[in-house]
Formats: sequence, C-alpha cells, structure tokens
Amino acid sequence: MTYIPPGASCNVCKAMKAQLNHWYMIHLNAERITISAFNMNDVEHGIPCVCGEACLIKYVSKHLSAVVYPPSSDAEISQILADTINRASENESESE
Ligand SMILES: [Zn+2]
Repeated sequence: MTYIPPGASCNVCKAMKAQLNHWYMIHLNAERITISAFNMNDVEHGIPCVCGEACLIKYVSKHLSAVVYPPSSDAEISQILADTINRASENESESE
C-alpha cells in the first residue's frame, strides 16, 4: 500500500485520501483554472485537491460563481429593486 502523508483531504467533502485513486489538483489563478492529477507535493504547497469528479465540479462551480461572476452586492440589488418600483409607479400614474 502506498504511504500517503497526513493532510491530503478533499477541499469539498473533507474525505481523507487513503489510496491512489482519481483525486485531482485544482490550480486557480485570475485567468484560468487548471486541473491536474493528484500530487502530494502540490498539496504541501497549499494547492486545493478534491476526491473525484463530483467534488471537482462543485469546487469549480463555487469558484466560478464567487470569483469569476460574483453576485451583485446587497446595495446594488436594493437599488435595482427601488428603480424597478419607481418605474412601475411612474407607469401607473401615467396611465391614469
Ligand atoms: Zn470530495
């Protein structure tokens, strides 16, 4: 059995890596996401790893929605709602 040093756990479901299987490394930078085979050296350098394709998809999806296309702030959402309500009431008074 291959020895896996402690510390290799899935960044999504927290499963501990116990044997060589289909784990992946996820390399993130401002412009791209690169996925590679599991590498303990990368884990020791703080590169996130995931336990399989299901967790890989969750991790990438979370990254995309949080970093690549972040949601609008609460203040922006409130302003959009206020503008929409104002426009609706303006249209209402025009039609009367
Ligand atoms: Zn996992």
